[in-house]
Amino acid sequence: MSTPAKKLQNLLGLSRDELEHLAEGLGQPRFRGRQLYEALYKQRATDFQRMTNLSQAFRSELAGRYLIAYPQIDRQFPSRDLAVRYLHRLEDGNSIETVYMPDETRTTLCLSSQVGCAVDCKFCFTALLGVKRNLTSCEIIGQVLTVAAAQAIPHRARLNLVFMGMGEPLLNLPAVMKAVHIIADPNGLGVPLRRITISTAGIVPKIRELALDPMRPKLAVSLNASTDAQRDAIMPINRKYPLAQLLQVCRDYPLRPREHLTFEYVMLDGVNDADADARRVVKLLEGLRAKVNLIPYNGGPELPFKSSPMRRVMAFQDILVARDIPAYIRVSRGQDVRAACGQLSLAGVGD
Ligand code: SF4
Repeated sequence: MSTPAKKLQNLLGLSRDELEHLAEGLGQPRFRGRQLYEALYKQRATDFQRMTNLSQAFRSELAGRYLIAYPQIDRQFPSRDLAVRYLHRLEDGNSIETVYMPDETRTTLCLSSQVGCAVDCKFCFTALLGVKRNLTSCEIIGQVLTVAAAQAIPHRARLNLVFMGMGEPLLNLPAVMKAVHIIADPNGLGVPLRRITISTAGIVPKIRELALDPMRPKLAVSLNASTDAQRDAIMPINRKYPLAQLLQVCRDYPLRPREHLTFEYVMLDGVNDADADARRVVKLLEGLRAKVNLIPYNGGPELPFKSSPMRRVMAFQDILVARDIPAYIRVSRGQDVRAACGQLSLAGVGD
């Protein structure tokens, strides 16, 4: 009878400390772990045999016990506007999505933090999936490395990462921050913190927790309403953390020099897009160092909302700008392949 093959442990997602510890456990000096860390993340090596700074014996030992595995790309949906929605198959059979959005000067990747989402925003397709589980740091970093390899993104390319895909990142804060630390480390993936954004629906205690981390990325808050009644209706999380609490934690948030908070505002026709809403948003954001992204809604027949007409979005913008609140209209990329904000639902195109 043949013995079952030993399951190899994936090293992707391990921190420098963990890899140093691993090297020591294999009888190697600690610095070998640091070399392994740099090979994994800085050089993006996927094969131990190519880590020629390690001894042949150590490489062979690693290959016998461990592997370096990125999430598999199951399907990809290229948009007319050059964005690509990637559907990854995870080891346990679950799927997640990552969106690649190139433009002339930089590339943005929209990352998932959970399989599905529990927050239940009424305008969001991911909410229809519910939540299955949190992603691991391996699966979060794996999204970056898989898409970077698929798109041949050079190591020195200007990369922006936004946690705005599937899931509420602050409900998976330990794994998200472990991944962020590796991504932002110059000896890791080397993406500066100022080019990484975590977007939250407004999990107040977790915003406080994030504020304490000196390695925190930029913060975006999904506001989407100008009154509690309105926000309760479209974002049930508001019943737990109403606007006053949310804006207070934003006021307490320790911004670095030149840093600002971003407030996302999905424009829903006849729901949150009146002039009076814009005036209330001005009041809500009073005294905050903030900008607002106005996002025309990317709907679908399954959900009972329509996008505000562009003239309404522009009128809303005018009111904010007139009161010195920087406000930008952000038309989502990849709408034709269901890759736009709030559209990620693991669906094929035309489903
Ligand atoms: S908008 Fe974000 S937080 Fe809200 S349900 Fe969708 S994925 Fe979750």
